[in-house]
Amino acid sequence: MIKVVVAGAAGRMGCRLVSLVRDSTALTLTGALEGKGHHALGEDAGETAGSGRVGVPITDNLSALMERGEVVIDFSAPEASLEHLRIVAQHRRAMVIGTTGFSHVQLDELKSLARQVPCVFSPNMSVGVNLLYKVIGEMARTLGDDYDIEVIEAHHRLKKDAPSGTALKIAEVLARAVNRDLNQVGVYARKGLIGERAKGEIGIQTIRAGDIVGDHTVLFGGMGERIEVTHRASSRDTFARGALRAARWVVRQPPGLYDMMDVLGLR
Ligand code: NAP
Repeated sequence: MIKVVVAGAAGRMGCRLVSLVRDSTALTLTGALEGKGHHALGEDAGETAGSGRVGVPITDNLSALMERGEVVIDFSAPEASLEHLRIVAQHRRAMVIGTTGFSHVQLDELKSLARQVPCVFSPNMSVGVNLLYKVIGEMARTLGDDYDIEVIEAHHRLKKDAPSGTALKIAEVLARAVNRDLNQVGVYARKGLIGERAKGEIGIQTIRAGDIVGDHTVLFGGMGERIEVTHRASSRDTFARGALRAARWVVRQPPGLYDMMDVLGLR
């Protein structure tokens, strides 16, 4: 059994991670972490997650957990994840980081620290989305310039940024596959008398409604046919399950920075 510490254990993702590790036959929960002063400190991590007692209290001292943890799975906040990675590096353990929103300076430090320990960092841990990155590149190359490309993403009404980071990554993968610069060909909104669609445009359209967890569609429009590839996330478990898969994989790797494409063997 691989010994797992969950950081951000009382958060939305942390609770799902605790619950899914509890049900896993390959992983066992040996530590649960929250920030100093958090109201959940001292509580049983399973009870906080709503999945029943696991016998692991939520604490605020990662260094003290390092003796009984092989891999830290961290969905918390950028500065917290960096601090955790520093500690993981000191103790030569492994890490899976799902946190998003790192600044360029923070990303540079993350990359530097990840030279010392095996670390998977991926802003979207969904297996399906990472497979999508792979297949849409091949599709775009095969279909070529005669097919118009549109990316459509839909998320819940509370999401603050647009388009989603995943939609941007999808658009970048597509642009690279057909040798275009997304800065030149990306079109993010259309209204009014805009004229005919320019050849080579990559449209990126955003929908915000209700409680949609996250939908991404790539549409290739040709003359006489169109192809649509859609990924729909129906719960956060898709990201949590991807993170558990990354944890099982990363403990067997040499030091270095990896992402889900590495975990899934899609390079
Ligand atoms: P959340 O509900 O706010 O959970 C984050 C948890 O981390 C909170 O309990 C927070 O405590 C805690 N935390 C903050 N500082 C900490 C520290 N120093 N040590 C330990 N824990 C600390 O957010 P979420 O929805 O679970 O998302 C967490 C992160 O994962 C976000 O960056 C999100 O964008 C990202 N995410 C990534 C993926 C992916 O596939 N990669 C999927 C979903 C979400 P407080 O409540 O006190 O702040």
